[in-house]
Amino acid sequence: TPHSMALAAAAERIAAEFEYPKEQVQKGVTAFMRQMDEGLQVQGATLSQIPTYVTAVPNGTEKGLYMAVDLGGTNFRVCSIQLHGNSTFSLTQSKVKIPGDLMTAKTSHELFSFLAKQVETFLKTHHGEHYSSHVERRKKSSMLSGESYSDEDVFSLGFTFSFPVQQYGINKGTLIRWTKGFDIPDAVGKDVCALLQKELDALHLPIRVAALVNDTVGTLMARSYTSPGKTGTLLGAIFGTGTNGAYVEKLSRLTKLAKMGPEAGDVETSTGEMIVNTEWGSFDNHLSVLPTTSFDRTLDAASNNPGIQMFEKRISGMFLGEILRRCLLALIHDPSTPLFTDEHSNQNDMHSTTNIHDDSPLYRPHGLDTSFLSIASGDASPGLKVTRQALDIEYGVSAASAEDAEAVRLISSAIGKRAARLSAVAIAAVVLSTGKLTNTTGNADDDTIDIGVDGSLVEFYPNFEDYLREALREVPSIGPAGEQRIRIGIAKDGSGVGAALIALVAERER
Ligand code: ADP
Repeated sequence: TPHSMALAAAAERIAAEFEYPKEQVQKGVTAFMRQMDEGLQVQGATLSQIPTYVTAVPNGTEKGLYMAVDLGGTNFRVCSIQLHGNSTFSLTQSKVKIPGDLMTAKTSHELFSFLAKQVETFLKTHHGEHYSSHVERRKKSSMLSGESYSDEDVFSLGFTFSFPVQQYGINKGTLIRWTKGFDIPDAVGKDVCALLQKELDALHLPIRVAALVNDTVGTLMARSYTSPGKTGTLLGAIFGTGTNGAYVEKLSRLTKLAKMGPEAGDVETSTGEMIVNTEWGSFDNHLSVLPTTSFDRTLDAASNNPGIQMFEKRISGMFLGEILRRCLLALIHDPSTPLFTDEHSNQNDMHSTTNIHDDSPLYRPHGLDTSFLSIASGDASPGLKVTRQALDIEYGVSAASAEDAEAVRLISSAIGKRAARLSAVAIAAVVLSTGKLTNTTGNADDDTIDIGVDGSLVEFYPNFEDYLREALREVPSIGPAGEQRIRIGIAKDGSGVGAALIALVAERER
């Protein structure tokens, strides 16, 4: 029918806007590499390139019992990790929801003493022996003489703290600002490791906060411990709610470190390397090379941080659903290409034809979840029944036609594919700027470039890695031969085993 042809053509036009051709990918890689370099040299560059003070990656032979805690947005996790030394580990964990009133407590003491209490409960429950033999003894002795534990008794702990911090050492970092609904003013500017350590000490727990952990670094470490072979992992990358990556850099290239003050600059390591947290979500905030559609523009303008995190706004789970929602609204509101309308009544009456409920989430900002892109893009059911069902149940669209669903699928795939190809830009830039492709031994095992990834998008979006790899091959200095050397593996538990491994490395470098 004329209606379905017009709709299909309009959907194709929108999908075409999300094409990100080969030449653009190459331009993106060049710009990314330039911005990486700049971030290594000066503070306040577009790519923050934050020194993490983590100076070695594991190879799977590490052993021991470590602890990790993770303060994310809504939950606080406590775990202990037994590293078996053969690339495997056992993990015990507990999780509590953070009470709302503590997120906006009057003093940081209230929040951090709550966190320490959770650690105490965890120790009593899961490591009762360790707890009773050492903690009771210490309580007595510290009350009598104030003397401290012998080092062997003490667990090293990795603290994953997912808020902006300025890091000064492997276990030193001051809170820049709270995000995600937290607001405890007196904590801002304080060392969050010291805040936690003080409350752990008050409970006489045999725990030393050994490392402050960013989730991307945890991902890199977790992958490096568990990955096959003995080559260390180069990059840990997250494609979830947000996107970010951390990679192994030569200390000699991190020239800004010396200018960051005596406390920060005084670093020497046995490896000559340091993991750098790129904060790549802000790549090309000035939009010199990023592809930009009208939907990207209006999404950014309506966001609470316009002009910021521009790379992330084209890649991550927090935004892809919103891009799709804006595309669908454009079709819904265009009388010449009506989406989700009843075709027959449409021919006589333009106004009474919509199949969308008034209270459909499609009408609300961020009402469409990125998981829907995975459903639509991967729908192989006859007549796209699965997509139509999701539209009905989740999004208040009754009786969507197969043509409607096909339009939705086409645009979903285009948005997802662009995200995967943009992700390849970051990965290609890290691989090329670290020179990993030019160092060859001829031994396939040693020449493997290992990358650990985590996040729902890379895990669940159909063919994400295939699209990403296709773009990698299109970069002339990588090509099919280079792409084959890149091994990508999912790395779970960055904030568990990854944080534990950082605590271990921190302990060794002490
Ligand atoms: P986080 O990054 O917060 O640790 P996740 O990696 O689970 O957590 O990412 C959550 C994001 O992934 C959300 O933005 C959500 O919309 C998106 N998401 C969840 N499930 C899927 C899916 N099946 N396909 C694509 N995106 C998804």
